[in-house]
Amino acid sequence: MNKITIAIDGFSSTGKSTVAKQIAKHLGYVYVDSGAMYRAITYFAMQNGIIGENYFKVEDLIAQLPNVNLHFEFNKQLGFAEVYLNGINIEKEIRTLEVSRFVSKVATVSQVREQLVKQQKKLGQNKGVVMDGRDIGTVVFPDAELKIFMVASAEKRATRRYKELLARGDKVSYEDVLKNVEERDFTDTNRKDSPLVKAHDAIEIDNSDLTLEEQFNRVLELVNTTLAENK
Ligand code: C5P
Repeated sequence: MNKITIAIDGFSSTGKSTVAKQIAKHLGYVYVDSGAMYRAITYFAMQNGIIGENYFKVEDLIAQLPNVNLHFEFNKQLGFAEVYLNGINIEKEIRTLEVSRFVSKVATVSQVREQLVKQQKKLGQNKGVVMDGRDIGTVVFPDAELKIFMVASAEKRATRRYKELLARGDKVSYEDVLKNVEERDFTDTNRKDSPLVKAHDAIEIDNSDLTLEEQFNRVLELVNTTLAENK
C-alpha cells in the first residue's frame, strides 16, 4: 500500500500530538512533533540569554542558528521520538510553561522557520509521516494527502494543558495557562510568516466534546478513506 503524508495543524493544546502519535503507531509511520523543534530553539535562546522577560535579541538568535542542531531519537519505552538539542535530550525541559511563554515569539522569526521547515521537509521526504504543528498543511507539506485542522474552545484546551502540567509536578495556575493559550493563538494567527490558518483542503475537527477514543476513530476513518483513494 502506498504511504501517505498526514498533516495535523491547529491551535495550541488541541490534542494534535496525542492523536498524531496514536495514528503514527497504528500505521507504523514516523511521528514528528514540529512544535518540539520551535520549543527546542526557544530553550536554546533562554539558556543563552537571547530571550527573557523583557528582551528578545533577534539578531543574536539568527547569528546563533548554525550552532543549533536538533534531532529526534525514538524512545521505545515512550513509543515516540524525543527531541535532542546539540546531542542532549531536552524533551522534558521544553514542555514547561516558561518555554510556552516565549516560543510563539521565537516562531515569528523567518530565519528560524526557514531552518526548521527545511529539516521538517527532509524528515517527511519518504512519506509515511504524521507531522503536527501550525503550518504543516500550508507550508511544510502543501501536497499532503490528508490534512486535518483541529480546534476546541480555549477553556477546554487550557484545562487539558493545566492538568498535563500539574501531572508533571509543575506549579502553575489555570489562569496563567489560559492566558498563555490565548496569547499563543493570537501570535500564531497574526504573525507575518506562515501564520496559523486552515489549509483550504484541510478537514476541520472540533474535539471540544469528543473523547480521545472518538477523536482517534474519527481521524482513523479519514486516514482509511485517504489510503483507499491513494492505493
Ligand atoms: O505544538 P506546540 O504547542 O508545542 O508548539 C509550540 C509553538 O511553536 C506554537 O505555539 C507556535 O508558536 C510554534 N509552532 C509553529 N509552527 C509549527 C509548530 C509550532 O510556529 N509548525
